[in-house]
Amino acid sequence: YLGKIRARSVLTAARDANDPSGTSRTLKRILVTGGAGFLGSHLCETLLAAGHQVICLDNFSTGMRRNIAHLKGVDRFNVIAHDIVHPLDLEVDEIYNLACPASPPHYQADPIHTTKTCVLGSLNLLELAARTGARILQASTSEVYGDPNVHPQVESYWGNVNSFGPRSCYDEGKRCAETLFFDFHNTHGVEIKIIRIFNTYGPRMRPDDGRVVSNFIVQALTGQDITIYGDGSQTRSFCFVDDLIGGMVRMMASPSSLTGPVNLGNPGEFTIRELAEQVIGLTGSRSQIIHRALPVDDPRQRRPDISLAMQELDWRPKIELSSGLRQTIDYFDGLLTRPARELEA
Ligand code: NAD
Ligand code: UDP
Repeated sequence: YLGKIRARSVLTAARDANDPSGTSRTLKRILVTGGAGFLGSHLCETLLAAGHQVICLDNFSTGMRRNIAHLKGVDRFNVIAHDIVHPLDLEVDEIYNLACPASPPHYQADPIHTTKTCVLGSLNLLELAARTGARILQASTSEVYGDPNVHPQVESYWGNVNSFGPRSCYDEGKRCAETLFFDFHNTHGVEIKIIRIFNTYGPRMRPDDGRVVSNFIVQALTGQDITIYGDGSQTRSFCFVDDLIGGMVRMMASPSSLTGPVNLGNPGEFTIRELAEQVIGLTGSRSQIIHRALPVDDPRQRRPDISLAMQELDWRPKIELSSGLRQTIDYFDGLLTRPARELEA
C-alpha cells in the first residue's frame, strides 16, 4: 500500500507542474495518524472539505471503520492500516499525530503499548517529518499537568505527574513525546506544533469509550445507573469536537515560530456531578446516580487557561456544554438504535 500512496503523491506533484496558476499548490498531502478515531475522523473530514489529499493511518485499536465510512468515496482520501510504533515512509507535506488511545480504560489496557505509541510512534513520525520536511503537529494533552497544583493550567506550568501510576503510560508518554518534538526541532529544524488538548467530546466517541461524557449519555439513554467515580466534586472543562478541530487546524497554519505548547479546550468548568445532572436533564432519563471508587491519581480539578490560543490563534470555543451535549446525545440516540452487528464495524 505504501507504493500506491507514493504513486498518488507523484501524480499530485505532476499535476502541480501542469498548474501554472498554482491553485493546486496550496493543497497539501496530509497524514492524519489516528484518523479513524473520534477526533481524527472529524479532522480528516475537515481537511478533505478544504480540498486537501488526506492519508488516514490507523491501527484500528480504538478507531472504528464506520467513523470514516462516509469518506471512502472521496478520491483524495486514502486509508492505511499501520501501527506507528513501526517506522513508515510516505511523501507528505503535513502530519497530524493523533494516534494514541485517549480514554483511561483503553490506554491502561496495554500500558506498554501506550508508552510505545507515544514515544516510538512520535519518534517514527518525527523521522518522517525530518526526511520529508513536513510540518508536524502533536496531539498532546492536559494530562501532562497531571493532578495540577496550579489552577487554571497555563502552558508554563510543569505539572504534577506520577511516573509509575496507572495513568503514567499516557501522561509520561505524552510528556516524552513533547520532549522529542522539541529535540527534533532544535537539532534538525523540524517545524513542530504542539497542542495540549483538554477533555473533548462529541459524536463518534465509542459507546464503550469509557470517558465520562459518553459513559453518562449511554447510561442515561439505556436506563442504566449513572456511575460517578468518587463524590463527583472533581472538575473538568469540556470542549465540543467542532471547536477543538478548528483550533487544531489554526495551530497547524500558524507561523512557524509558534511551536507551542498551546492549550486548546473550553474554559467552562463543571463538577462531574453537574455533568451528570445536565445529561439526566437533557435526556429526560430516569437513571439513578450511583457512586463508584475514584480511580487512582484521578486529577481533582482541570481547566485550561486559553490566553495563548486566543492571542496567537485568534481562537476560542463557541459551543456551550448544553448545546454540545444535545448534539452528542442525538448521535448516541441514533447509534444505539442500530443493529448490534453495525456497531462492531
Ligand atoms: P480515540 O481513541 O478515539 O482515537 C485514537 C486513534 O488512534 C484511534 O483511531 C486508534 O485506533 C488509533 N491508534 C491508537 N494507537 C495507535 C497506534 N499505535 N498506531 C496507529 N493508530 C493508533 O481518541 P481521541 O479522543 O480521538 O484522541 C485522539 C488524540 O487526541 C490522542 O492522541 C489523544 O491522546 C489526544 N487527546 C484527546 C483528548 C480528548 O479529550 N478527546 C484530550 C487530550 C488529548
Ligand atoms: N468519571 C466518572 N464516571 C465515569 C467515567 C469517568 O465519574 O463513568 C470521572 C473520572 O473519574 C474523572 C472524570 O470523570 O474524574 C473525567 O474522566 P474521563 O475518563 O472522561 O477523563 P480524564 O480523567 O482523562 O480527564
